[in-house]
Amino acid sequence: MSTTDIWKKCLESVKGQIPSQHFNTWFKPIKVAGINETSLELEVPNRFFLEWLRDHYLLLIQEAVAKVSQREYSIVWRIGKMAPRAAALTSHAQTAAVAERVLTNTSLNPYYTFENFVVGKDNQLAHAACIAVANQFSNKYNPLFVYGGVGLGKTHLLQAIGHRVLQKTVSTKVCYYTSEGFMNEFIGAMQRSKMDDFRNKFRRTDLLLIDDVQFWAIGGKERTQEEFFHTFNALYEAHKQIVITCDKYPRDLGLEERLRSRFEMGLIVDIQPPDMETKMAILQKKAALESITLSEDITLFLASLGSSNIRELEGYLARIIAVSSLSGKEITLHMVKDTLKNIIQDKTVKTITIDNIQKVVSSYFNINISDLKSKRRLQNLVMPRQIAMYLARECCKSSFPEIGTVFGNKDHSTVIHAVNKVKRMMEKDQEQRMVVRSIKEILNK
Ligand code: ADP
Ligand code: MG
Repeated sequence: MSTTDIWKKCLESVKGQIPSQHFNTWFKPIKVAGINETSLELEVPNRFFLEWLRDHYLLLIQEAVAKVSQREYSIVWRIGKMAPRAAALTSHAQTAAVAERVLTNTSLNPYYTFENFVVGKDNQLAHAACIAVANQFSNKYNPLFVYGGVGLGKTHLLQAIGHRVLQKTVSTKVCYYTSEGFMNEFIGAMQRSKMDDFRNKFRRTDLLLIDDVQFWAIGGKERTQEEFFHTFNALYEAHKQIVITCDKYPRDLGLEERLRSRFEMGLIVDIQPPDMETKMAILQKKAALESITLSEDITLFLASLGSSNIRELEGYLARIIAVSSLSGKEITLHMVKDTLKNIIQDKTVKTITIDNIQKVVSSYFNINISDLKSKRRLQNLVMPRQIAMYLARECCKSSFPEIGTVFGNKDHSTVIHAVNKVKRMMEKDQEQRMVVRSIKEILNK
């Protein structure tokens, strides 16, 4: 049976099991991208589809495939439209030739290229260093160590180096591994007494890309660190290029000393959270890749939602695009606000700070913030102070000592007493309950 036949039969089977509207929405857009002995590759229009299908229908799909083909396949997802550059790599021969030269524990995301990376002042240094390394391996930049917070583009840049080198050269061997993938394979090789194979494999590579090494710093991974240390040295001495990403600066990482000093040997660059302009440019780029033009006001609205994590911003965008394509609604600012209203609410609840509480409570009772933090025992100060402490505990989940500190260095027992007192007061006294509730409302606005 051909791949297309298998998939056709699967669709028929799925169709009978879910409402037809769901079927049309989620299954019609799926294309079969390929199949081999163990996996079936499915292409979907965007990330939102991918996540939705994986979360809601994976089991159903796997069962249908197994029923139709009489064997087990794992499902590999890929995003179609968003990856026009990958589609350019069309000929089978070409793809196969590239595959032989690339060693990964998870396939390279075809979308993570330099062309799709937006350069802003917060990532330009990291970007420039990655381009430089991709164009020419360099002793000076060995290793290149890129660090920065979650969702700021480290993996994207790391894989972009891989793509560029594969495109540019015909024989360079590229290896992309997550630090976790490296560890798992190392453990597997030890268990199967295949350490020689493991070592040779990594040492044959010309470009080693290792993602998220902070993972090795969490408890009990000394053997992995040691193994990587030797891999690193072997490659370094052979003038092979190494690029590493991490969420911290090497010194703050808590890795073994000798590994840390290796990481500091080359060039260290950071990625900072994007400013408003970069966020807007990234959003517009992502939208353009989906053939959508975002108006200025919508882009501004999304970029000002407060997140610096670009993955999160992409999530909002994917949701908007999906809702629009499913409902046929035009993407307007009103529609965007409506689509994201739950997310936006969650966010504001999360952003209540003790600072905020102190401001709101003092203005509510018409007293000074300094009085709230003072030790003065006047009744008109004591009650607001206790309510503010109670709210700090309730809304910010801060610890008693933490709260004590920001309320003029009071003892934690004072805070406990205050929190309990307000609780009791609210149980007994309706008027007090209303007071606390309306302060909370102001805080949540
Ligand atoms: P990290 O590895 O730092 O956690 P990723 O590289 O996974 O972050 O990036 C998260 C998402 O944000 C990815 O989809 C990536 O394509 C996107 N992204 C981050 N920075 C940029 C940028 N400067 N231009 C375009 N996309 C970006
Ligand atoms: Mg990453």
